[in-house]
Amino acid sequence: MGRALRRTFVFLIDGLGYYQLDSRHMPFLNDLIKENGRTIVIPPLGYSNAVHGSFWTGCQPRTHGLWTYLYKSQSEATYGVFKYLFWDQVLERIHWALPVGEKFIMRRFFQLRGQTVPLNIPSRYLSQLSARFTPIVLPSTQYDVPSIFDICRREGVDFSFALNSEYGKDTVIYNSSQLPLKEGTLFNYVLLSVDGHFHHFGPSHPSSKEHMSKIDNFLKEFLSKISSTFHDYAYVIMSDHGLCPVQNRVDLHEVVLDSTDPTDLLFFTDATMTRFWYKSKHIQEKVETCLAGLPYGHVLNPEEKAKFGVDFKDDRFGQSIFLYEPGWMPSTDSWGMSLGRGEPIAAVHGYDPYHELSQGFLTSNLELRAPKMEAMDLLPTLLDSWGMKIPEHIEGRTRLGD
Ligand SMILES: [Zn+2]
Repeated sequence: MGRALRRTFVFLIDGLGYYQLDSRHMPFLNDLIKENGRTIVIPPLGYSNAVHGSFWTGCQPRTHGLWTYLYKSQSEATYGVFKYLFWDQVLERIHWALPVGEKFIMRRFFQLRGQTVPLNIPSRYLSQLSARFTPIVLPSTQYDVPSIFDICRREGVDFSFALNSEYGKDTVIYNSSQLPLKEGTLFNYVLLSVDGHFHHFGPSHPSSKEHMSKIDNFLKEFLSKISSTFHDYAYVIMSDHGLCPVQNRVDLHEVVLDSTDPTDLLFFTDATMTRFWYKSKHIQEKVETCLAGLPYGHVLNPEEKAKFGVDFKDDRFGQSIFLYEPGWMPSTDSWGMSLGRGEPIAAVHGYDPYHELSQGFLTSNLELRAPKMEAMDLLPTLLDSWGMKIPEHIEGRTRLGD
């Protein structure tokens, strides 16, 4: 006999790392942790959408395919239209001659098409790149792996989702009285975020602390509403990753382009990684040799890629992935993160997932005492707690009773 499907509330706080939980500003959460204990959540390598992809599919990024937003795919190229507007040489000259004007026009053009364009990437690369902005609650994944929402739909389990923080601003949008509780909704998911505050001010800034207090207050009020409405329910309060203070900035573009012809390779820098595609094996060897001498990061080897869940079946996300050491940030990352899109950046995430500042946490009244779990263990754990079968393709494992 399976367990009875139990009403469950999941609160996911984007960016609130295991080591950033602060008992003084989050007394309610701290009390729950004292009662339940807390588990370290090891994310896959990547940014929030990769981690959430793993939470909700029970698989690693290599399988669900939600990783960094930008990847190389000529057939799907988001910016493929550039192929028809200019030819490479002209584009290149325009890029360097009129960077501001060109970028303004490009950004406006893509804005009108409902897309965005990376800031610091040479135009000649654009016709080869695809950008895929995945909503944080995923309807379907890159490789069509079903998410918890697909499973709920298939099994007729009623679910609700409330995005309760505006990303970037990190407000708490709804108070507990504004979020309805429905008798028939068995899976209730509320997403909150401290990510923006932590990025711009760092976790110890008074404004970050104030925001943590607001979230703590929301949790306290909402859980008290739940407990006075239902007598049997499960809750999970958790986070996807922590943030690491930025201590040094470095420009890898100069290092690489000093020794290489820029037309021999394509590379793209995220907040904590630079990814490369090469014209030939020879160029790859040359660049990797140059990268091997750098003290602030390294190219991931196949074992690391497998361990971090990013051993993809094709090269769309890069032939080489150069991962920066925690605290080092590329100064011209392509999304303009280091420019903070106008605001300073104090902390980032997406470093080695096993570094302690990368790790998230989980606390729950479910029978879940494991000291550590991986992000992909969440879905099988929930399915197990509902007495549902864990689909074969799921890579994580249930941690119930551990
Ligand atoms: Zn973030």
